[in-house]
Amino acid sequence: MPQGLPKRVDSGFLCCQRARGREVPNWRTPMPGGFTPTPTPDTQPFWDAAKQERLAIQRCMHCERYYFYPRPYCPSCTSTQVEWRTVSGRGRLLSYVIDCNPFPPADPAVPKIIALVELDEGPRMLTNIVGSPPEPQALLLDAPVTVEFEDRGDHTLPVFRLENDQ
Ligand SMILES: [Zn+2]
Repeated sequence: MPQGLPKRVDSGFLCCQRARGREVPNWRTPMPGGFTPTPTPDTQPFWDAAKQERLAIQRCMHCERYYFYPRPYCPSCTSTQVEWRTVSGRGRLLSYVIDCNPFPPADPAVPKIIALVELDEGPRMLTNIVGSPPEPQALLLDAPVTVEFEDRGDHTLPVFRLENDQ
């Protein structure tokens, strides 16, 4: 590691070690309301599309770039002429961390893969990888991924699966 850079906790393994033995009050009881999104006027079209199993993000009609997270203006050129587009749902795994003790309402006994995916259209999205064992050997960086949709009560969340797992 080059000198001057702070030491980073960027390994899922290290996070697991830190999580072990931690007291999590009422961890068997789901939190009221659980971890589901609260749509805002800016994000509502994203959640509406997910409910229909479509991945929709915004595109600037001026500079023609896609972007994510939802905003009423383009982060590249500040144009407010933006639109929602359904995109391919395909991308690549850029990075991930394995959360070995996720908080309820996720099952704390089932590790979750928290991932950064770069969509084919360009934007990056924080998401979960499903269908792969939570092991670094199974999670090759730059591997192609495809969106799928997970129902969580009133909401549907886009998650991704490695294409070679299908
Ligand atoms: Zn723009």
